[in-house]
Amino acid sequence: MEFYADWHTHSKYSDGRGTIAENIAAAIDKGLDELAITDHGPSNIGVGVEAPGTYLKIKEEISALNENFPEIKVKVGAEADIVALDGSIDIPYEITKSLDVLIVGMHPYIVPNEVDGVWSIVGINQLAKLSSDARKKAMVNNTKALKEVVSRYDVDFISHPDLQMPVDIKELAAFCAEHDTALEINTGHHYDKEEMVRIALKEGANFVVSSDAHFPSSIGELASGGELLEKFNVPVERVLNARHNCH
Ligand SMILES: [Zn+2]
Ligand SMILES: [Zn+2]
Repeated sequence: MEFYADWHTHSKYSDGRGTIAENIAAAIDKGLDELAITDHGPSNIGVGVEAPGTYLKIKEEISALNENFPEIKVKVGAEADIVALDGSIDIPYEITKSLDVLIVGMHPYIVPNEVDGVWSIVGINQLAKLSSDARKKAMVNNTKALKEVVSRYDVDFISHPDLQMPVDIKELAAFCAEHDTALEINTGHHYDKEEMVRIALKEGANFVVSSDAHFPSSIGELASGGELLEKFNVPVERVLNARHNCH
């Protein structure tokens, strides 16, 4: 399986090392037709963009760069954080509408937007490492929050589902399949993705393979994701950034 796009990469605007121009040059080098710059939302402690308005600045920078690099289409996006059990994210709705790609992910170290999220999202996921009861509760909460966000926002895909923060993949995949939101195969993090692919395939969800690159050299490093999908005979039509007849 080959890929024409990498829609999950970070730049210096969050915790990536490359400038946007360096990321673009690396993507061209890898032969990609599309790249998205998707920096972390502002509530991601120590790594997020300075403020939601930063995405508008990134958008301006990308539209200027798109003229310099006609061989690739560069999209502006975000990897938003869930900050409450009701599926609120750390980017205002109006700003999400001006993005080309909206990724939502769960990250352990975020500033919740309400007192509620301190326990129901951050606390329970820390406790989940120590107790199986807490793990079950964290899974219920995480799955609920992800379903809420998918129904409230136009989410293109969920980043690294089940990484560090447990999720009921069957329930989430079935819901995502209904709402046209894909699940990510993240090649930048090492964790067990086989179960996710097996279950999500059955539930009808689509997939996106992305590098989650924090260095320009990791952009487009998607081969391990392709191998995983091939192992489970996932049809190419179910993989949104795979090359097939139309690309
Ligand atoms: Zn992430
Ligand atoms: Zn990321």
